[in-house]
Amino acid sequence: MNSGNSKKGNVEIEAPNFLKQIIEKDIANNTHQGRVVTRFPPEPNGYLHLGHAKSICLNFGLAQEYKGRCHLRFDDTNPETEETEYIESIKEDVRWLGFDWANHMYYASDYFDQIYLWAEQLIKEGKAYVCSLNEEELREYRGDFNKPGKDSPYRQRSVEENLELFRKMKNGEFAEGACTLRAKIDMKSPNMNMRDPLLYRIKKVPHHRTGDKWCIYPMYDFAHPLSDAIEKITHSICTLEFQDHRPFYDWSIENLPVPAQPKQYEFARLNMTYLVMSKRKLLQLVKEGLVSGWDDPRMPTISGMRRRGYTPESLRLFAKRIGVAKAESLIDFEILEACVKEDLDQVSHRAMAVLNPLKIVITNYPENKKEELHASVHPKKEDLGKRSFFFTKEIFIDKSDFMEDPTEDFFRLAPGRQVRLRNGYVIKCDEVVKDSQGEIKELKCSYDPVTLGGKPTADGKKIKAIIHWVSATENVSAEIRLYGRLFQVADPENVPTGKDFKSNLNPNSLKVIKQAKLEPAMMNASQSYKYQFERTGYFCLDSKDSQPGKLVFNMIVDL
Ligand code: ATP
Ligand code: MG
Repeated sequence: MNSGNSKKGNVEIEAPNFLKQIIEKDIANNTHQGRVVTRFPPEPNGYLHLGHAKSICLNFGLAQEYKGRCHLRFDDTNPETEETEYIESIKEDVRWLGFDWANHMYYASDYFDQIYLWAEQLIKEGKAYVCSLNEEELREYRGDFNKPGKDSPYRQRSVEENLELFRKMKNGEFAEGACTLRAKIDMKSPNMNMRDPLLYRIKKVPHHRTGDKWCIYPMYDFAHPLSDAIEKITHSICTLEFQDHRPFYDWSIENLPVPAQPKQYEFARLNMTYLVMSKRKLLQLVKEGLVSGWDDPRMPTISGMRRRGYTPESLRLFAKRIGVAKAESLIDFEILEACVKEDLDQVSHRAMAVLNPLKIVITNYPENKKEELHASVHPKKEDLGKRSFFFTKEIFIDKSDFMEDPTEDFFRLAPGRQVRLRNGYVIKCDEVVKDSQGEIKELKCSYDPVTLGGKPTADGKKIKAIIHWVSATENVSAEIRLYGRLFQVADPENVPTGKDFKSNLNPNSLKVIKQAKLEPAMMNASQSYKYQFERTGYFCLDSKDSQPGKLVFNMIVDL
């Protein structure tokens, strides 16, 4: 497992990135006239996830670093799965991550006319032919890793016949599946992708941008290098599974009069413990109602992580730490959480919140007194100022900070013991009050008036144990959603036959606390800030469900 640990003292050392070496060499050799143009090419068939975030940070990051540019290109060659909703979400996610494509947003479908003309050109040069094998026959003729392919019986059609048939395909004169356009390369190639790969197929489906204009669509593998060339991309970066497709990428560039010579480079995709990272699988969770939507805060989608409260800074830090390599690796979920915490520690406003309230009555405190106390909004950022809250006769502490029969390793409140209230006084537990069922109803405590501001007790004792609290009468209530991991095993996709990855979902990944008690200023909590509930974790308002007067917080990550 990759530790991703790249901190040495306070100096951030970036994880290695072999692509930088390639780019630097290209710049030094003036390979692309010194230009660096990358692209992020999502297929608009789902919401982006953490793996895409890695690719976005990589492509836009390299462009930034080498003063080039990065295009956002929608690879919309498959009209069946594409939706406008996805396009909008992808744009929002890339921007939120902090990147800007300026006026370089494109669609592969913008190039359909040009790609079609190039396909005709291949036909005219005898480098492509219309094949009338059906899907099953195509597969059979293709062979496999151990068996060479066989030439299609339609491979020797004349240029004229091919042109006529291809135009008929384009004009809708054939049924779906009746024929395809294929490159004429080598059916015996050890690389399956070079065995006369498909260039075009018939799909009588309207396209989200070109409408009914086309009933044939170029294959991704053909459209991709050509789109890259049209946009004069220099470094076309994709994941390792495309390595075997590279010879065909190069073939397309070499055999057509394209305006630039892009090169494809592959890196290992991001895999994470406790997550699945495939749009298809994430879509299943959404469709089957196993999560509340693409932006469910437990989802590894960018929109889910945004709603959860992860910051763009923390995702960029994560991308930098894990680096870019050629070897497959599995990144520990905790590395992501560490990046999130590191960023949140610096920016979060502090507050006190009691998630599971236990009432305390301070017996020696006056009945209606309301004493205003202060604490820093951020311990290291005095410019953020102070916040205020009230000490009163009745307060709440968290149930977990009291034990009637304390175990040996428990140092917080217990009968007869003293504890310091954070940002407040030292109290002592004098009595445990129970109801008729024997359940603890409240505690009676006394406070020591000289202990404010961290001072020792009247009898000179320094109290080490500190717990958080809020006034029982001066507070604001909120719903709090606590999240566990979406999957309960580290490798959710590893399932016995007959079962699927969903059987590994964690049934306890969401716990809702209806009535947590927060210090009163949290009434004005803002979507613009993240909060650290002291001693508990990092939280933010839920962007969908929280309203003034009915606050809902998401736990981003614990401390
Ligand atoms: P999925 O497998 O989730 O459907 P995809 O690769 O089909 O993802 P695309 O929309 O085609 O999704 O991907 C856009 C870009 O994001 C591609 O360049 C792809 O290589 C990259 N990408 C996708 N998943 C990952 C990942 N897990 N790690 C790094 N890059 C990824
Ligand atoms: Mg894909």
